[in-house]
Amino acid sequence: MGRTDNVTKAQRRKPAEAVAIDGAVPAAKPVNGAPADQLDPAVAKFAQRWLKAVRRIGFAPMGPDGLYALLRDLAAAFVRAVHDDPFDPAAATRIGAALAEAGLTDPGVLTASLSVLRNPPRLGSVERRASRIADLHAGLAGGYAAALRRRTLREQEHLAHAITAAHAQVEHQLWTSESRFRALFEGAAMGIVLTDLEGRIIQANIALARLLGYPLEELYRLETPDFLHPADLQSDRDLYADLVRGDRDHLRMEKAYFRKDGTVVWTDLTITLLRGTDGNPTNTVAMIEDVTDRHELEERLRHQALHDPLTGLPNRTHFAERLAEAFANPDLDAQVGLCYLDLDGFKRINDSLGHDVGDKLLVAVSRRLERTVSNRGYQVARMGGDEFVILAEKATLDELTALADQVLYSLDLPVRSGPHGMRVSASIGIVVQSVGSSGPAEILKAADLTLYRAKAAGRSRWACYDAKLNEAQVARYALVEKLPDAVQRGEFSLLYQPLVSTATGRACGVEALLRWDHPERGTLSPDEFIDLAEETGIISAIGTWVLREACRQGAKWWRRFPERSFYVSVNVATAQTYDPALVGDVLSILDESGLPATLLQLELTESAMLSGGGEPVEALRELAAAGIRIAIDDFGTGYSNLAYLRTLPVAGLKLARQFTDGLGRPVDTHIVKTLIELAHVLDLAVTAEGVETPDQLAQLKAMNCDVLQGWHLSMPLPADEMSAVLENGG
Ligand code: C2E
Ligand code: MG
Ligand code: MG
Repeated sequence: MGRTDNVTKAQRRKPAEAVAIDGAVPAAKPVNGAPADQLDPAVAKFAQRWLKAVRRIGFAPMGPDGLYALLRDLAAAFVRAVHDDPFDPAAATRIGAALAEAGLTDPGVLTASLSVLRNPPRLGSVERRASRIADLHAGLAGGYAAALRRRTLREQEHLAHAITAAHAQVEHQLWTSESRFRALFEGAAMGIVLTDLEGRIIQANIALARLLGYPLEELYRLETPDFLHPADLQSDRDLYADLVRGDRDHLRMEKAYFRKDGTVVWTDLTITLLRGTDGNPTNTVAMIEDVTDRHELEERLRHQALHDPLTGLPNRTHFAERLAEAFANPDLDAQVGLCYLDLDGFKRINDSLGHDVGDKLLVAVSRRLERTVSNRGYQVARMGGDEFVILAEKATLDELTALADQVLYSLDLPVRSGPHGMRVSASIGIVVQSVGSSGPAEILKAADLTLYRAKAAGRSRWACYDAKLNEAQVARYALVEKLPDAVQRGEFSLLYQPLVSTATGRACGVEALLRWDHPERGTLSPDEFIDLAEETGIISAIGTWVLREACRQGAKWWRRFPERSFYVSVNVATAQTYDPALVGDVLSILDESGLPATLLQLELTESAMLSGGGEPVEALRELAAAGIRIAIDDFGTGYSNLAYLRTLPVAGLKLARQFTDGLGRPVDTHIVKTLIELAHVLDLAVTAEGVETPDQLAQLKAMNCDVLQGWHLSMPLPADEMSAVLENGG
């Protein structure tokens, strides 16, 4: 024990500066049996010198007290070794070792120590002192070197241990994160694939294999382009190239892949670029989620939003999208063609046979249209109601007129619906315009106007767009827009043209003639707007206004000149005669104005009377029964069926201006004469229109024409001027 305990005791005094001197501790037994604290002053001095020399070297791995304690013990051991009998040089070996073990490893320490140890204090006489000291020096140096080597080896071993331990720790951490990653990777519901920059699969998970319908092993033999939809191939390559080049770090998109069985799977794909420690792209990892269900739902909703539920055809919205696309063509010379189609008389079928039959008809028409345009790359859409449109990109006008002929031909076969065999026809407006010269709204408007012209020309035909004709139509449409409010705005007025009795030469009545004081276009004659008013249904409101105004004025004149039986003649449009409210309206207007029914004449054209629908005739009978006179306007321009006229409640005829114009020619003159005679046989009063010359006046008088009207007698006049005429006895 002894020696180790002694050193330990020395260390125990300065525990904070304790030095581990394991095993090879020099004998620190007090010299001459004295304990270390009762050190010989000479030895203590010697130790002080040694301390000084070592401290000059600079480095000591312990504080000055600790170093002193060490050197003091070693100095005592050295002195004892010099004096000990028998002489043992190995004692110095241990001292050298202790020095090195204590960490005094600077090479200068050994030299400095040997220099101090050359003169140890003399504690007594000893034989061969110098030789002993030399041997001890050699031993000390040897011990020092050996301990130093041991120490270095030990340190290396420590280091190796530390490195191994550190390795083990890193590996453990890697393993943990790797196993976490594995768990995620393999257990993920989402497909995950790691690829190299060429798209080769390095690692893929089960979810991906399942998503693509391949066994996992087979997946490794494939490359990503193998699953791509061919349509996506180029754009995907470009995007992927961007990613790999490092222009972007993520890529996210919804895209379709092919499964092994050829079916399509829709996915939400996120690709992330992985970079190496040097920052350069090394791999990509893709997360692929199966969103087929969601995609199909979206597709279904989109389909619903863009298709007509009845016929399955693209609807107006879809068509508008396609048309906008067609006009987005950068080639300004590219042609866009439309066939705008409207079924003839569809409303009648719908009203008379019911909506179910109407629906069947629309479906049948849709199928026929699709069949007719198929293989041409044209698109059929249903615009609503009985309107369809064919969008034909890059088509010429000739191709479209040929197509329109085929469409009309295809519709010609009757459509069977239960017991009904329906024949349907259509009118088609055809327009071809270039991308640079038109736009979606313009071409649609042109097509609509052209369709309207086709309709006006008769059923089952097509018309091609004609800029000039359309311009006229556009002007008409502009009027239509203003027409509905014109009554409220007080833009209508009446002129009164005298109807002159041949018997008296005085006015026996007036024809009320409508004028529209259009805010922009000035005064418009009825020829310019009455048919529009009829088409749009506004005629009833206008007609009522005319009647009320004419009756109000007529009543004034009647009150002023009751003895003249002065009547007012009011034009009634054909469409008005179908208005079930007409009779009631006329009677109440008469009532409120106070004009006797016998002083009101209504002028209707032949076509209004002879259209044979039953309703107009019935209405006329009621009006006639109330005492109102019915006259046939523009007689001779229509059916001119005098025999039929006998059955109608008619009081007079107004001969069309053409007859008056023809009075110079013998044949026409004869016709007029005969007509007047025949009318008189039927007890009808005859009025001649358009009397412009004294000669016409004379001839008509000679033929016993009852009443004359025309510029030669008087222009149409405002009410006050007409009143003045009456005041003056005219
Ligand atoms: P209409 O009933 O045959 O009326 C006669 C037309 O001939 C009037 O034209 C009149 O101004 C014109 N006229 C009169 N004398 C002469 C003449 O000597 N020579 C020539 N060349 N023309 C003459 P306006 O006023 O432009 O009316 C045109 C048509 O408009 C009328 O033809 C009538 O069918 C219709 N109309 C006029 N007012 C109304 C109305 O209040 N309601 C309806 N529904 N139609 C009306
Ligand atoms: Mg008239
Ligand atoms: Mg007339």
